[in-house]
Amino acid sequence: MHNVTLIKGDGIGPSIMDAAVAVINASGAKINWLEAEAGMSAYEKNGTPLPDATMQSIDETRVAFKGPLTTMVGEGFRSINVELRKKYDLYANVRPAKSWPGVKTRYEDVDIVVVRENTQGLYVGLEHYLTPQKDIAESLAVVTKDSSERIVEYAFKYALDNDRQKVTVCHKANILKFTQGLFLNTAREVAKKYPQIEFDEKIIDAACMHMVMKPEQFDVVVTTNMFGDILSDLTAGLVGGLGLIPGANIGIDAALFEAVHGSAPDIAGKNIANPTAVMMAGVMMLTHLGEHDAGMRMLHAIEKVVNEGKYVTPDLNPNSTCGTREMGQAIVDAME
Ligand code: NAD
Repeated sequence: MHNVTLIKGDGIGPSIMDAAVAVINASGAKINWLEAEAGMSAYEKNGTPLPDATMQSIDETRVAFKGPLTTMVGEGFRSINVELRKKYDLYANVRPAKSWPGVKTRYEDVDIVVVRENTQGLYVGLEHYLTPQKDIAESLAVVTKDSSERIVEYAFKYALDNDRQKVTVCHKANILKFTQGLFLNTAREVAKKYPQIEFDEKIIDAACMHMVMKPEQFDVVVTTNMFGDILSDLTAGLVGGLGLIPGANIGIDAALFEAVHGSAPDIAGKNIANPTAVMMAGVMMLTHLGEHDAGMRMLHAIEKVVNEGKYVTPDLNPNSTCGTREMGQAIVDAME
């Protein structure tokens, strides 16, 4: 039995997470779900968006399966996602984007995994105004050799473990010679240890153009925090949007699996949210837990239903009247 902290989250969270949990349970994986609260719903109940009990649960399980959380607006509230990343040092954000034969997009053969450094760069939160009248603001980017090394190592190990051929580092070292230069130079050093994997480097702006013109030249991409944030939404767009893309946040001794999209308040409570992204995050979690057979069974069932395009939510097929629950049930029924 694997103990997993289950955070259903806000908005569409409970509905897509219920569908995903039913599919994971049907896959044969042995999961003991420990439900915990976070986000707006937790705040309304307990007066805090991240209760101590939730942290204690993750302290024990070291694995969390999380629905989207509505960001609390206003002074004094920090992003819960950032807080969890910091507390458990979840340094690698991994987002695979692969074309689905049944989902019509402009491209057919995209298969890119973005590995984003999740703790540093421009997102460290070192921002301030330089003048009392607040007309000059400054943000600091922090990049260390150690953190660059571990994320690039992660990308190469991921490539080896997943039969990938190439790692591309995306950077802006031509302008940001210190922070981006350190990242690029560290990547070059790490790459020498993996001669069996092809290494490529691209300046971020050129990488964006190449990604939309010839996405097939990318395999595993490794980059700093903000570039990774942007590139991974770009790759999501190449394969059909955020409704399909999972995200894994990996640390040395903890991991958190989630969809990339948010709590979608505009469609909450309507039973039309697409549960595919969180289910794909569930597949990544099962692989992480060593439940490979259950993960493959689940992946094949999701692929079958999505590619058939019949029992899918309206965002995937505008003619469909199928809801979140019905799509989840179709995936459970498709499990072999
Ligand atoms: P969003 O991703 O929630 O929604 C963007 C658009 O995509 C909306 O039109 C929505 O209806 C649609 N959409 C999203 N997920 C969908 C799904 N599974 N099926 C069908 N359609 C889907 O982004 P937003 O509206 O900018 O953010 C809403 C809230 O979520 C905000 O409070 C934001 O801060 C938060 N958020 C949380 C996370 C997270 O917890 N990881 C990530 C992103 C945004």
